[in-house]
Amino acid sequence: MAMSVLRLGFMRGIAGRGPQPGLDIKGRTLVDLFEHQAKELFAEYGIPVPRGIVAHTAEEARAAAEQLTGRVVVKAQVKTGGRGKAGGVKVADDAADAYQKATQILGMDIKGHTVHKVLIEEASQIAEEYYFSFLLDRANRTFLAICSAAGGMDIEEVAHTAPEKVAKIPVSPITGVHRDKAREIAVAGGLPPQSIEGAAELIEKLWAVFVDEDASLVEVNPMILSADGQVKALDGKVTLDENASFRQPEHSAYVDKAAEDPLEAKAKEKHLNYVKLDGTVGIIGNGAGLVMSTLDVVAYAGEAYPGQPKPANFLDIGGGASAEVMANGLEIILSDPSVKSVFVNVFGGITACDAVANGIVSAFQLLESRGEAVTHPLVVRLDGNNAALGRQILADAALPRVELVDTMDDAAKRAAELAAVGA
Ligand code: GDP
Ligand code: MN
Repeated sequence: MAMSVLRLGFMRGIAGRGPQPGLDIKGRTLVDLFEHQAKELFAEYGIPVPRGIVAHTAEEARAAAEQLTGRVVVKAQVKTGGRGKAGGVKVADDAADAYQKATQILGMDIKGHTVHKVLIEEASQIAEEYYFSFLLDRANRTFLAICSAAGGMDIEEVAHTAPEKVAKIPVSPITGVHRDKAREIAVAGGLPPQSIEGAAELIEKLWAVFVDEDASLVEVNPMILSADGQVKALDGKVTLDENASFRQPEHSAYVDKAAEDPLEAKAKEKHLNYVKLDGTVGIIGNGAGLVMSTLDVVAYAGEAYPGQPKPANFLDIGGGASAEVMANGLEIILSDPSVKSVFVNVFGGITACDAVANGIVSAFQLLESRGEAVTHPLVVRLDGNNAALGRQILADAALPRVELVDTMDDAAKRAAELAAVGA
């Protein structure tokens, strides 16, 4: 049962994100940290990490290596796993070599992520590589520690071919992780006796990071035993839960403005719950559940039309859909050049359909006054509280290119059809 969560953990931690829209939408409320940020955070909690300096150019990399002295590792800073295998992690003998290696790594593309910065770190002498993570086990409504003595770059392979080497230990949020529990986890992971105490100390501190920072994933792979007998975090992946931002003001510094979709950034400013997707049918609905199912219905309906149109976005305008919210939502959706048609799917509840219909009419006027008159076809489905009245209001307003369709399925088909013909 916990498998889906484990796979999610591994996907986030090791293989990066999956392409499914559901996962993606959830992912957007999470903030992934760069390795160097994760390690800076670890250091604040007293977790041993190698000394390191971030460099944006090969010259900076050379200067950083000179400062650290001796052998260094040049590590691509991108928010995806598998950097080692992609050639994004290289050991350099000295500063001149660090310059060379940084030249090779900067600008590299790793799974669609361009390398804009590297972490220059003092090289570690590795005796053993372990795997460790804390994550949320949604299926079992608990937290989970995953630990294995067979860590390093092949952990996914190990998890697949020798799952018994990967210990999964539930962690109660009430009792948490103290030294004894941390030892139990390290032992279950098959760590050798000389590593247990060091690993337990690290695990206990990682639990503090996980809880105090409102993280949904903290992963260290590899956690190493160095040649001189120390247990250290050699890599770090941390995913923060943005829903906790109200009590984690300092986390806003981690939000990667440059990587943010410009439409999503604009939507965020207007407090809209919008996620950009890559289809051509714009979607507006009230209630996250309704919008999620609208995405599915549209994707399914689209399969019957040429080019197989898909949803262009997720947009939940919530309960009190005022004219202004509707106008802002339409504005965002219509400023996406891929959008060919829009499906407005509303189920009247506390905010009844007549209020939503009035919102749509006012939104059209508002957009026209902003010089952004709606020229795309809109398919509107109104159901629930005061549906008949809402439909009447829209019929009377006779807005250009607005079509009323009674059922969600038929409306989805019509919106997909309009997108397919390029509207
Ligand atoms: P990932 O491939 O994206 O997970 O990047 P990692 O930070 O985990 O690095 C990949 C691999 O590079 C590790 O599993 C280590 O084997 C190796 N590596 C990283 N840092 C060092 C180091 O300081 N010394 C040595 N010898 N190897 C390192
Ligand atoms: Mn790693």
